[in-house]
Amino acid sequence: MKKKKIYTTLALFSGGLDSILAVKILQLQKIKVIPVCFVSPFFNSKNADESAKKLNIKLQIIELKNDYLQIVKNPKYGYGKNLNPCIDCHSFMYKKLGEIMPKFEADFLISGEVLGQRPKSQSTAGLNAVSKLCGYKDLIIRPLSQKLLSDTKPIKENWIDKAKLYDIQGRSRTRQIDLAEKFGISSYPSPAGGCLLTDESYCNRLQDLIENDMFSSKYIKFLSIGRHFRISENTKLILGRTKDDNEKLNNLITDDLITLNSKNYPGPLGVINCKGQLQIDEVELSAQILLRYITKVKNYEDVKIEFGKSKYKILKVKKLKSGLECKYLIL
Ligand code: SF4
Repeated sequence: MKKKKIYTTLALFSGGLDSILAVKILQLQKIKVIPVCFVSPFFNSKNADESAKKLNIKLQIIELKNDYLQIVKNPKYGYGKNLNPCIDCHSFMYKKLGEIMPKFEADFLISGEVLGQRPKSQSTAGLNAVSKLCGYKDLIIRPLSQKLLSDTKPIKENWIDKAKLYDIQGRSRTRQIDLAEKFGISSYPSPAGGCLLTDESYCNRLQDLIENDMFSSKYIKFLSIGRHFRISENTKLILGRTKDDNEKLNNLITDDLITLNSKNYPGPLGVINCKGQLQIDEVELSAQILLRYITKVKNYEDVKIEFGKSKYKILKVKKLKSGLECKYLIL
């Protein structure tokens, strides 16, 4: 007797309840499911790691690089409430999954998308746009809502049983929670909050990078840490707010970045992000801002500020009536 083929699917896996259910639904149909989580400067694999561990499935992690940043900067279908280009983003992820299908000998793609859960990206038009844009329209199955969507090849060719898929629709999570109970899934991450592109204050900083032509991973990696000051079109200053911020900043410092700190007094670590030649007045202004946050210091003359890993070294900062005077050495 001819052995029945075991089909394989690659799953877009965030680790949230919807993606966990999508995996479970297909596993129950004896489909081999390989979960894939994408990471970028805007989202990580924390939830996916934890959920994959609980489900006892091996997670594949793929880092999105510059081509994804270009999608965020210029999305074909625009943004959601903040700088979240959800239609383009999902489509890009499906495209990446499609490209690695041969490597995993996968037959089709799935995700935990739910029709109507988000007004734009998960409307009928939004889901169709995602499918069309990625180039793998006929290979996509959305197990939670597929009964409400057009049949694609895995259904048409009986790779999977449509009757065992679902018709979940809308923002309520009641049916997903019931399903989780039915499948014996007791713990899962709370919905939302995993993507910085949906965070308004983070997006204000990101928009500033876009507007000042500094939209690259070199600068994006600092955006969620500390206080940010735009010094000029070319230059930004980032100051740690807390000890934890200072440590995070310190871990991100590379040889081409200029840092400011006070050696003698506790205070913020400052990092200068500059896309061109750093100007002396930008150095001065940055030092001046840094000094405002070293609260214990009364006399600015007593503060020693050094520029780490750079060709500048400030020797002395003096408070004058007109402001601060910096004496520095060009090394
Ligand atoms: S919320 Fe973020 S990760 Fe999710 S689809 Fe939108 S942009 Fe992509």
